[in-house]
Amino acid sequence: MFYFIINNVCDKLFSMEIRQISYFNEFICKGCECPETCCRGWLIPLEKEDLERYSKEKGLMKARLMLAMSEHSIPVFNSSCGECTFHERSGLCSLQVKRGHDFIPETCRNYPRFYRNYGLFEERYLDLSCIEAANMLISHVKDLSLVLAMGEPDCDKTITNDDEPFLNRLLRIRSDMQSALAGVTDFDDLCSVLGAIDSYAMRLQDAYLHGDEDYPDKHPFTYVRSDAGGFDAPEVRDVDRIFPLKAGEITALTDTSIYHIRLRKKNPGLYKLFSLYFNKYRRDLASENGWTRAYTDFGVRHRELIPFFAAYYSYYLYQYWLRIWEDYSFVRHARLGIIHLSMLLLLCIVYEKEHQSVTSAELAHIIAVYNRRAFFSDELLDSMYRVLDGRSANPFTG
Ligand code: SF4
Repeated sequence: MFYFIINNVCDKLFSMEIRQISYFNEFICKGCECPETCCRGWLIPLEKEDLERYSKEKGLMKARLMLAMSEHSIPVFNSSCGECTFHERSGLCSLQVKRGHDFIPETCRNYPRFYRNYGLFEERYLDLSCIEAANMLISHVKDLSLVLAMGEPDCDKTITNDDEPFLNRLLRIRSDMQSALAGVTDFDDLCSVLGAIDSYAMRLQDAYLHGDEDYPDKHPFTYVRSDAGGFDAPEVRDVDRIFPLKAGEITALTDTSIYHIRLRKKNPGLYKLFSLYFNKYRRDLASENGWTRAYTDFGVRHRELIPFFAAYYSYYLYQYWLRIWEDYSFVRHARLGIIHLSMLLLLCIVYEKEHQSVTSAELAHIIAVYNRRAFFSDELLDSMYRVLDGRSANPFTG
């Protein structure tokens, strides 16, 4: 079951700092031109206001609305996660066509806007499960940044922690990591920066476990491209390589519920890619040698795509790094991003093997179909993260 978690709209209106991705306001839905419509593959939760609005309807419209609703923990449209009953052949939403944009469920109106209210400020992004948002990321790779303004938050506080110094440290670390990612030009760079991020996350986790909350002040994340893999970490040996993940880990990830037969209807783009992988390419890619050869060749042939991969991880940090403010799981959050990036790499390799090319627009498409499947189920994320159980989460305690 997948919800796109949208904001609980804030009932108290007050001003706070709003930090949003610089192109946030430029988003325009592709509408009926969209090749990966979001009217398919999701449960659509209905808010109280939606229910009030729909309960006032009469006649056939009311009948359609009521019949389309199912009860889960809350009322939803599209309970089968197939195609929304209001999605017309033309590619448009019949509710929107007949009654206008304000009539459609709030979830649909907001998508793909992604809000996080940290109490002191709110951050806003465009979620990459939307193909247009993924395209916009690709075209802004060189100028990924947040713009700041005062305004009313769009959602209630999403986190309970109020340790402001810790939040500020997390922000500083995020920014330092993103600076390192912005300098990535080739595949080795990318592997090296991600290795340093993973190593630093382990050190942070260990430091906080032992009560050393000043650790990030005494040892900030600084990445200098060097043969030693950056900052003051021990050299990352290939045996400890975290990105790309090892062949066995990739295979185990593809064996989670990331792929299943129902994707054929819910997410046909991803279904096609995984079908190719399982039916044609898995055998070669399952061995460490085959996998290493595949990603090394890909990195050389598609050097132009590597900054996009780095930007994808950077964007992941924007959206998810501050979850550490709630759960102190440095390693989990750093590694989930690395898992997603490794899976993206796998899907690009499969796509390229099949089509002999992969362009930045095709990469955006792959990002959208992958993110739509992988990011919205805690159960799936837990099972993917468990694949890395064999790795140490703490270099000091083993
Ligand atoms: S996925 Fe994005 S571009 Fe496509 S229909 Fe949905 S909001 Fe519009």
